Amino acid sequence: MDVDLLPVITTLLLGTAALSLTSACYAFRQNHYPVAIWCGWLMLAVALYCSGYAGELASHSVTEADFWIRLQFFGAAYLPAFIILLTLSYQRQSHPPLVVAALLMTLSSVTLVLVLGNDSHHLVYWMDGITRQNNLSLSQFRIGPAYYLHLVYLAISWVITNALLWRHYQRHAAYRTPILLIIAGVTAPWLGYLINIVNYSTLPLDLSPMCFAVTSLCFWIGLFRYRFTNVAPIARDHLFEALNKPLLVLNEQLQIVDFNHKALELAPALGADMIGQDVSQLPCLPPGLHHLRHSQNEVELLEYRYDDRAWELAIYPLHLNQQTAQGYILVFQEVTARATLIETLRTQAERDTLTNLFNRRVVMEYLTLQMTSATAEQPLSVILFDIDHFKSINDQQGHIAGDMALCQIASLLQQTLMSTGIAGRYGGDEFLLVLPATSAEQAAHYAHELNRRSQQQLGISLSLGLSQTQGGEAATELLQRADLALYQAKSRGRARVESLLLACDA
Ligand code: GH3
Ligand code: MG
Repeated sequence: MDVDLLPVITTLLLGTAALSLTSACYAFRQNHYPVAIWCGWLMLAVALYCSGYAGELASHSVTEADFWIRLQFFGAAYLPAFIILLTLSYQRQSHPPLVVAALLMTLSSVTLVLVLGNDSHHLVYWMDGITRQNNLSLSQFRIGPAYYLHLVYLAISWVITNALLWRHYQRHAAYRTPILLIIAGVTAPWLGYLINIVNYSTLPLDLSPMCFAVTSLCFWIGLFRYRFTNVAPIARDHLFEALNKPLLVLNEQLQIVDFNHKALELAPALGADMIGQDVSQLPCLPPGLHHLRHSQNEVELLEYRYDDRAWELAIYPLHLNQQTAQGYILVFQEVTARATLIETLRTQAERDTLTNLFNRRVVMEYLTLQMTSATAEQPLSVILFDIDHFKSINDQQGHIAGDMALCQIASLLQQTLMSTGIAGRYGGDEFLLVLPATSAEQAAHYAHELNRRSQQQLGISLSLGLSQTQGGEAATELLQRADLALYQAKSRGRARVESLLLACDA
């Protein structure tokens, strides 16, 4: 005995029609978006087609079946036109060109007119009668040339639509899911049709109207979940592009998912082929970004230099429903001006403006810090020195010549000073050298050498006071000894090095 398939199939078809009608109503309510209008018409056509086919399967006579077939064509004839027009308006975010719309609608209307007048010319189909199987009325008809033309029109629309959507899919990574939904929705009835052609199905009926259930569901999800007819994603897209900062979107695996136009200035290598590639392939990023996978919640700020410019990188983790980040937005901002200003301020705060040596505050801070690690094995030495008869340079050659002499001494210090030590201008024509992990002998050797070079190269003699500590005293005490040693060097004839190594020596 035949299984009664009528309730199941009509429920599926009428359910699909109802779902399509809901989508159509929702889309028409957003009639200020061109894509929504064409989506509404497409859904309406699907609803008519499916309900017409349900009526055909339930009909009891040839006349009744013929009526439902004509009703189906009110939807089916316009399906290819609406599919192309929807895709074009989705891609352009505006109405398709009027000529294209008029041409497609005319082609579909010709099909409908031919169907409505089929009794007189039978160009579309020739109805032989109906048979009943599984309680379904199955129309027996022969297909005419106009029907074949309609199938060709449908096939062309499917190819055009998929080509356009695929191009859109490659360019707009952010909309991949809605685009895939539209592709699936457009392709599903075609699969049903292909199955019919190769007679793969054991069902004695046309599968493509049934496959519109998939179409209807895909568009319903696209409309209600992804709002593909709505302006919100478009606005986001515009903002994404309009923002005057380079942006990158990464997935959980730190592969590039999307980027804006501005990012090309930072990374010219970016292109469609970089989508899906590991972000570490871009040289413009700071090293060590792989740690992102562990910092899941916080917005992270990094400052780094690339291409002679300073960049601030803000990393925003993207959370959908889970605790862990499913992706990241990387926002770059050039901060060269700010970084340069900070650097200038820091230099001004740390350096002596004339000689560019460290100023007294910095050299004292460094001394205090280094005093804590001074030991008998690793003593710390200081040299305080003063230019001999500096006043006479000022008096005889002028103040500018005096300034130049100070700069020459500073540059001699920078050339000769060992890497562990630092030199600072202590004040006037006095300079202080802090030499960590340096014995008094090494420091004395250096002091003599400095004095020799200064006299030889600059014609300036120096009086130098040397002192050393093994820890356990304050910086002021150490400096006092160096100062006293310098005083001795002056009073013993200048151009010499004197040492006061231990507190008892003083
Ligand atoms: P002495 O051998 O005893 O050190 O004698 P001096 O002539 O070097 O005298 P002293 O060190 O006491 O004087 C330092 C002079 O340096 C006093 C001041 O006019 C001059 N001076 C201080 N700062 C500057 C500066 O920035 N530029 C110039 N050109 N001269 C300065
Ligand atoms: Mg002096």
